[in-house]
Parts: sequence; C-alpha cells; structure tokens
Amino acid sequence: MLAYLDANGLDLAAIIATHHHADHVGGIPGLTRRFDVPVYGPAREAIPGRSHALAQGDSIVVPGIGLAFDAIDIPGHTAGHIAFYCAGQEILFCGDTLFAAGCGRIFEGTPAQMWESLSKLAALPGATRVHCGHEYTMANLRFATAVEPANADLPARTAREQAKHDAGVPTLPSTIAEERATNPFLRAGVAAVANAASAHAGRALTNVVDVFAELREWKNGFQ
Ligand SMILES: [Zn+2]
Repeated sequence: MLAYLDANGLDLAAIIATHHHADHVGGIPGLTRRFDVPVYGPAREAIPGRSHALAQGDSIVVPGIGLAFDAIDIPGHTAGHIAFYCAGQEILFCGDTLFAAGCGRIFEGTPAQMWESLSKLAALPGATRVHCGHEYTMANLRFATAVEPANADLPARTAREQAKHDAGVPTLPSTIAEERATNPFLRAGVAAVANAASAHAGRALTNVVDVFAELREWKNGFQ
C-alpha cells in the first residue's frame, strides 16, 4: 500500500478493516505510523489500531473523499466480519465473505450464518461493484462450472475473466449481478445447483442451507 501511494502521489484517507485475519490487518500499524487516519473495523473483533468500532446499522463518511459507507454484519468466515457498502457509488468491500465466483471458508461460523450473510450481499443492487479480499476468480470459475455445467452464463464469464487474466489486469471488481448469475454459493436455491450438491453428497438435500453446506465442503476438496 505504501509503495502504491508513493507511486501515485496519493495520501491515505482512512483504513477500513472487514475482519481480524492477519493478512487483512497486519499492515495497519505500518500505515498508521506514517498517516494519522481513522481505522474503521468490526466492533466484535480485535483490530490493531481500530479507532471506530462498527456493526450493522452504523454508517461512516470517509474524511477527505466524502464517501458514505454502511456497515453490514456478515458473520461466517469470522464471527464479527463486516462489509462496507457505499449506496451512493454502489461499491462493496466484502473481505473474505463473497469472492468473485466463490466465497470464503467458514472458520468461525455456521453454514446457516454464512448463507444468510451471502444472501444479504446478493440482495444489493446488481450494479454494485464487488471488491473482495482475494482474487481466486479462475479457480472459482472452474468449480462453478463443475457444479453447473449447463449454466450458459459460466462459459461467457470464464472467457471474459480469462481475457483479463491473460492481459495481466485484475478480474476484480465483479458485480453483484454477475455473482447472482454465476456464483454457485449464491445459487444454492437453484434446482440445478441443489441437484449437483445432492449428487455429490449421495443423498437428497432438501433445504437450501444443506445445499450450501455441501457446496462449501465440495469446494474445500476440489482440485
Ligand atoms: Zn480472512
């Protein structure tokens, strides 16, 4: 981040932290040593240097850039994970909960919590740009295609993202509309996805949380 700021002649306005994992918050002290900025983070997790503790219902306006964000509670990956959503600009920072064509592992929550959290994000406007915490897009699309080989939106998206990948540009951000169309973890309620999860489980999965849980297990072992 420091190298990027220097290379682009930028000052840091604020730090937003979605959850406590070290690969997301380990750099905060190094940034706040140089920049006196607010550190917004989840109220229910330990975040180094946090100045503002946020939970569902809280809103912030980032000083310097004037963008307003709402905090959304999205537990599952971690117990206190939050997202930052800017309704005015349709921007979402969702950490390790929703990924492009995938979702994070469930470390501190239950499949039911993770499904509810993902469903909250899926209900945002379709044009919302999804800035997630890691770029696993191509591997996630391979899994999505294994789950839903007949989903016509998947080869189209795979070609689009592969072209970006080949050109050396990020596949991120995606949009909520793209995720609703191609992300199997938002589609546990779709019959084709439920059928694939049932076939993988070797038993009929009849409720959406069971389908979602099976998809997450399947992905954990997917090569
Ligand atoms: Zn994480």
